[in-house]
Amino acid sequence: MGRHARGAHTGWCAADHRCNLTEHRSDDLVVTLPGFGRAVLTRVRDERGREYGELRARIALDGDEYTARVQLRTALTDLRALLSRAAEYTRRAA
Ligand SMILES: [Zn+2]
Repeated sequence: MGRHARGAHTGWCAADHRCNLTEHRSDDLVVTLPGFGRAVLTRVRDERGREYGELRARIALDGDEYTARVQLRTALTDLRALLSRAAEYTRRAA
């Protein structure tokens, strides 16, 4: 593995097939709650140098449709809270 057109891999980049010509990508950080779900967090730097935390989650849904919808609504509500809390640490231009 060599260098990107826009520079060398970052210190946290996995430097393998996940890292392509436009993005650097870290190893996946996995959180598992057996029987209930799994989330994967990956650090990404795009071609403009902007960095992101990319989050993918799989949530085990109940067989009952109403309960499954409540679970999804709860997940969306909590994701909004999660994004808002993470955004609190973003430095803002004065
Ligand atoms: Zn890379």
